[in-house]
Amino acid sequence: MSRILIVEDENAIAELEKDYLELSNFDVEIESDGKNGLDRALAGDYDLLILDLMLPSMDGFDICKEVRKVKDIPVIMVSAKKDDIDKIRGLGLGADDYLTKPFSPSELVARVKAHLARYERLVGSSPVSNDIVEIRGLKIDKTARRVYVDGEEKNFTTKEFDLLTFLAQNPNHVFTKEELFKKIWDMESVGDNATVTVHIKKIREKLEFDTSNPQYIETIWGVGYRFKI
Ligand code: CA
Repeated sequence: MSRILIVEDENAIAELEKDYLELSNFDVEIESDGKNGLDRALAGDYDLLILDLMLPSMDGFDICKEVRKVKDIPVIMVSAKKDDIDKIRGLGLGADDYLTKPFSPSELVARVKAHLARYERLVGSSPVSNDIVEIRGLKIDKTARRVYVDGEEKNFTTKEFDLLTFLAQNPNHVFTKEELFKKIWDMESVGDNATVTVHIKKIREKLEFDTSNPQYIETIWGVGYRFKI
């Protein structure tokens, strides 16, 4: 659930915004003071900020500027004066959107949803959110489908990658060759349990310093394979 902070000193407006946003299943908090609003925006784990312009102790311009130094969450600024909108744009504070009071609460909700969706797309495509599996010297980047052994990238075929990732994500569990074949290869695939053996051998050649004494994938004789952790 997305968390939203509203910094607004007019209680009736803040409560109205909150009610509408909560109907759309957002988790909403209200702060009426400017400085406290900045502190909460910086400290809290919010996904979006709705900032009024005229506030006690610190105005929306300054709050936006300070928040932008450390966070790139969407900021929607609201103001009673239409002139302020031009000022906000002119200052280049990094606000994502502007609304002039009075605005319809459903308009606000629509914009909140649009900005959150856009932000999630941006964050989702950035490398920091790559799905990584790391075990000792082995690093598997599932998002980029790349494998590194002691910092050096190794090339894996699609099935080798799938097999290694599956085993690494289920460590200390013994899988039979039949189970692994079913799991990694389509039912229509040509091949059998020997295919698994061949792929394990190839994975070891890329992964292991000494393939006769494997550190990652162990052979459990008469049963199958297990990823050591
Ligand atoms: Ca105000």
